[in-house]
Amino acid sequence: MTQLCAWKRGALAVVSLLAAGALACKPATETPGAAATPAPPATAAERPLPEQAQGAAAAITADVLREPIAQLGSDAFEGRGPGTSADPKTRDYLVQQMQQIGLQPAAADGGWTQSFELVGIDASPPATWTFDGGGGKKVAFKRREEFIAASGVQEPKATLQGAEVVFVGYGIQAPEYQWDDFKGQDLKGKVLLMLNNDPDWDPNLFAGERRLYYGRWTYKYESAARQGAAAAVIIHTTPSAGYPYQVVQTSWTGEQFELPHESEPRVQVRGWLTEDASRRLVELGGKKLDELVQAAKSRDFQPVPLGVHTSLTLSTKIRRVQTANVLGKIPGSDAELSDEAVIYTAHHDHLGIGEPDKSGDTIYNGARDNASGCAEVLAIARAFKALPEAPRRTVMFAFVAAEEQGLLGSKYLAEHPPIPAGKIAADVNFDSANIWGKTKDITFVGLEKSSLGDVVRRFAGEQGGRSVKPDQFPDRGFFYRSDQFSFAKVGVPGVYLEPGTEFVGRPAGWGKEQMEKHENESYHQPSDELTPDWNFDGMVEDSQLGFLVGLWVAQQDQMPTWTPGDEFEAARKAAIAAAESGGAPAAAPAASAAASAEPAASAAASTSDDD
Ligand SMILES: [Zn+2]
Repeated sequence: MTQLCAWKRGALAVVSLLAAGALACKPATETPGAAATPAPPATAAERPLPEQAQGAAAAITADVLREPIAQLGSDAFEGRGPGTSADPKTRDYLVQQMQQIGLQPAAADGGWTQSFELVGIDASPPATWTFDGGGGKKVAFKRREEFIAASGVQEPKATLQGAEVVFVGYGIQAPEYQWDDFKGQDLKGKVLLMLNNDPDWDPNLFAGERRLYYGRWTYKYESAARQGAAAAVIIHTTPSAGYPYQVVQTSWTGEQFELPHESEPRVQVRGWLTEDASRRLVELGGKKLDELVQAAKSRDFQPVPLGVHTSLTLSTKIRRVQTANVLGKIPGSDAELSDEAVIYTAHHDHLGIGEPDKSGDTIYNGARDNASGCAEVLAIARAFKALPEAPRRTVMFAFVAAEEQGLLGSKYLAEHPPIPAGKIAADVNFDSANIWGKTKDITFVGLEKSSLGDVVRRFAGEQGGRSVKPDQFPDRGFFYRSDQFSFAKVGVPGVYLEPGTEFVGRPAGWGKEQMEKHENESYHQPSDELTPDWNFDGMVEDSQLGFLVGLWVAQQDQMPTWTPGDEFEAARKAAIAAAESGGAPAAAPAASAAASAEPAASAAASTSDDD
């Protein structure tokens, strides 16, 4: 998982886990409003589970789960870094396992793998960035100390030539809040200077203090690109970013991976300026920053050209690396529903080989993150094959690549699915399993977001009365940091189960203690290895739960639905309409359209805003 970013910068020489890993740590948006009670599934008559479901679930055992973890988490797999020789070796292992289980290949070309490129971008900005106010007045800012500039394009050079700087307030267009900072002005070729965050002083406007996607830096760059701007420069303040400028300095340096550019618009340069530098820039244009910020707090705000011009050239090193998602399936048995699917996902990549830890170990094995999730999905595939008849809908098993680089494999799969997104009923995602034993509860990250909450509650209840809890660390925004988020962006509701916290036979607080210990000592470190003290009992139950939930979804007449008003509801409607008309989805809603436009960024990505 990309979540905690207990990641020490510079600890790894590997690819650019650094940039990307660090960039892969924060939600692209916060959980949306009211945690309303999920709507019940909109089915008239519920289809019960097949009688043999419980027997099939029993195919998921500790031994079945342990073996793939022992293999994939061993030193022989070298930490499964994307684009390394361990990458195809990992995929071959997964294909062999799927063949042995009796799955069929599920890629669009009839094979087992969906290949794609990762583009590594490493830009070198000059030591100073100069702005010209005319009449001989200039200011120059220092690299890193005062400005950060990254390439917005996958080209050897990114350039600005005498581009004018325009202050555009928050740089937000949000029809649902009747908010448009651009007011139809022509901003082509301009450098847009903008505020971070979104309006936060009114609970009815941009959800008050909760940061929406509009308040993320990823949105800012995408929004500027939609205006045809040449650059976007975000004014850093600690309150508006939620983290000190130092975090910007460290996470925007070094190589960053993205998916190859498709048709989305891009700015040439993505920048940050410190608050102090922004003040001086604005003064060069004869304005006061505080007055501009005040003006930006109104719906009537108009972009303010500063009469300041700038040029900048970034030389960029571009590197292309091949990787692939691995896809298997069990075709559905129902004539009408078999063209629809339930998809299980687990990322197969991890961080590869890097700097040694204290013991001298250089292999980042990723046994828990995420050999364990791969093992869970393989075990679930076994359970499905143990049923006497295939489920009504097709069940797909996807081992996705490059999650640690910013959910890139799942993003690629969600945007190029072998089955249209509007026909994918649900994604059930596994990332970093419970290795500490049985729990009386289970965590469902995104519990309140769709009708799947009720389904999980019910089958967890049948496991001896287990309770289902929402994300236990809501401030960390886990929903936006694993692969089900890529599917949510194309409208597919998801189940993302994380370990419970109340362990059977353990005192209160023991579970959180174990998890925190793991985060500090093993998360994204060479010591994330399979050790004899791993207790598989909880992993067995959690996997069985994932199996039963997916099976239930595969059997029902209707697909699950988002909670009304959820941020992804509109994307779902668009995807279903597109699937019905056989075309590409129509314009998606602002947030998800934006979210889908930029990989390393949007993908849950982002700067380790937390550390
Ligand atoms: Zn991870």
